[in-house]
Amino acid sequence: MKNISLAIDGPASSGKSTVAKLLAKEFQFIYTDTGAMYRSLTYLAITHNVQLTDEAGLVDLIKTYPISFKQTENGQLVFVDSKEVTEAIRQPEVTNAVSEVAAHAQVRKEMVARQQKIAENGGVVMDGRDIGTAVLPKAEVKIFLVASVAERAERRYKENIEKGISTDFETLQKEIQHRDHIDSTRKASPLVQAEDAVRIDTTGLSIEQVVEAIRQVIKDKGYL
Ligand code: C5P
Repeated sequence: MKNISLAIDGPASSGKSTVAKLLAKEFQFIYTDTGAMYRSLTYLAITHNVQLTDEAGLVDLIKTYPISFKQTENGQLVFVDSKEVTEAIRQPEVTNAVSEVAAHAQVRKEMVARQQKIAENGGVVMDGRDIGTAVLPKAEVKIFLVASVAERAERRYKENIEKGISTDFETLQKEIQHRDHIDSTRKASPLVQAEDAVRIDTTGLSIEQVVEAIRQVIKDKGYL
């Protein structure tokens, strides 16, 4: 497998991180969950009482508290200034505030620069909203995953139960729609499919079927 960059974008709970992690493991690539970076910043804003509207304050937080990842046998851990926040950044309080934080142009500029640094030598699987359009516009393989709102809410519902977070299904559906709306309509690099991305609808597909569909795209492009 060549040291290519694989960009996986799509709306909330479209299955990006699950398949991205599996593919990164298979190809021994670096996996980067860019959503976790915006979530970590949101966590920092909440814990440091920085308003979600305070763009300069948010940028200061990014510059002051480094966000990092660590691969372990139990999956990828997320750290903010050496404090582990893997679970904390998945709490509903963060999930419901993150799109507002991620909409600021200066916040995106800082995050994109850090993400490009991680990917500078290739050999990465990066998932997010703007990887194929803004972070890695030259990525060799770009995938855009979509799924119905009902299916995405169902997946999030099951994930939350496993994590011991109780949320009502209807509320989850509304929250996902709300986050999609903010992510797709913001001015700074909104969630849109890159022209050269391959769109895969994961509704009704198993994780292995989605992984296989992506492998096929990589093969068709001659990288596998
Ligand atoms: O992928 P995840 O749902 O964890 O991302 C959380 C939020 O971070 C998204 O709803 C979006 O607002 C923001 N995000 C972004 N650009 C990325 C990744 C995530 O704006 N590349």
